[in-house]
Amino acid sequence: MEMQQALQSLMNVEENRVCADCQNEQLRVTHVSVNNSAFICSPCAELHAQDLTPLISLVRPLNSDFWSHEQISTLRAGGGNREFSMFMSKYELATPKVELNRKYNSVSCQYWRDKLHQIQNGLIPQTEMPTKMQGVVQMDRDVEGDWCLVDKSSVMV
Ligand SMILES: [Zn+2]
Repeated sequence: MEMQQALQSLMNVEENRVCADCQNEQLRVTHVSVNNSAFICSPCAELHAQDLTPLISLVRPLNSDFWSHEQISTLRAGGGNREFSMFMSKYELATPKVELNRKYNSVSCQYWRDKLHQIQNGLIPQTEMPTKMQGVVQMDRDVEGDWCLVDKSSVMV
């Protein structure tokens, strides 16, 4: 119940009622990308499921009855669409024109996810924000299949 209340209070935030991706006010927000703390509509949720791995975007329907403490605290660490879009707009990746792949596979978005993960684990993020140039770089898979930066020299520890 406590989880549901925490989720409900996030869903009541005005910015979380308009999809973080397409920003189409005619579409209802039905899903959330948990690890990005981004509230999205059904069509965008489908695109996430199709084009992005769960490591990049873990999508859940908002009407689900089961939420883990970890998921809810990740959502709260991010704060939702306002904070997410404010961060991504620093890299000009927040507007609906930006392809989802480009937005979510970017170094800046990975930094955002790492930051939420750290906050959720009670850590204070120590790494510096990527610069505007670093932030728009796309991540690629390394030999082990993990996501990594294309340019290893800008790896943030
Ligand atoms: Zn949408």
